[in-house]
Amino acid sequence: MESALISVVPDRLCTPVCSGCDESVRSLHSKSMRWVRDLRFGSHEVLLEVTQRRLRCATCRGIRTERLDFVAPHSRVTNRLAHYIAGRSRMISSRPTRPSRSLMS
Ligand SMILES: [Zn+2]
Repeated sequence: MESALISVVPDRLCTPVCSGCDESVRSLHSKSMRWVRDLRFGSHEVLLEVTQRRLRCATCRGIRTERLDFVAPHSRVTNRLAHYIAGRSRMISSRPTRPSRSLMS
């Protein structure tokens, strides 16, 4: 199976939002990389290489990561891939099942 690696970098014009308190924070501490799986694109598996900013949040009084709309903190899959998997799981678990032969006799 082929795969695609997509780099996701923060837009410098957008002020990051603290993941702890949802306040906009202008003081940056550092950047880190994380890798997140996304929905397939055709036959390609998609992996996002995300640059995530760490912030000095005055409200939280500490270092926090910025909130990202497309992935939950510490998750290794995007929100839309998580929703897709959850939907498939519900569909599979709600399918009627045949009683086993041992229960029918
Ligand atoms: Zn905060």
